[in-house]
Amino acid sequence: MEDCIFCKIINGNIPSYKIHETADFVSILDINPNVKGTTLVISKKHHASNPMEIPNEILKKGIIAAKEISKILSSKLNVERVGMAIDGTGVNHFHIKLYPFHKGESGLGEAHERVYFEHYPGYLTTQLGPQEDFSELEKLAKSF
Ligand SMILES: [Zn+2]
Repeated sequence: MEDCIFCKIINGNIPSYKIHETADFVSILDINPNVKGTTLVISKKHHASNPMEIPNEILKKGIIAAKEISKILSSKLNVERVGMAIDGTGVNHFHIKLYPFHKGESGLGEAHERVYFEHYPGYLTTQLGPQEDFSELEKLAKSF
């Protein structure tokens, strides 16, 4: 797409810090990393970014490509684990975000603060929330 920044990167019209490329995906270092080595695995073909609307075959290939890049990141950055997010936010072009888990003095650490959002805050978190009222969970489960 003409106005898509990721299409421009894929086409070489905008420079990037490419670390890997497959037939269907290009992996680049995020220019706004929140941890060293944050990487974006971007489909070469333009697809809108909502992960729930990506064709299954592209989604599968993307996850496999992300797994391969995670191995490279683990090896180069000496991390045991890399987290993956497919949230569809930011650029409206299918991409997978990879976050190397750098260890601190006490290991990987753990978030102790619990969070709960009434509305999407603009980012995903894997922090736990407060324990939900079981009757509320039962009511919600029965509504499906
Ligand atoms: Zn695009």
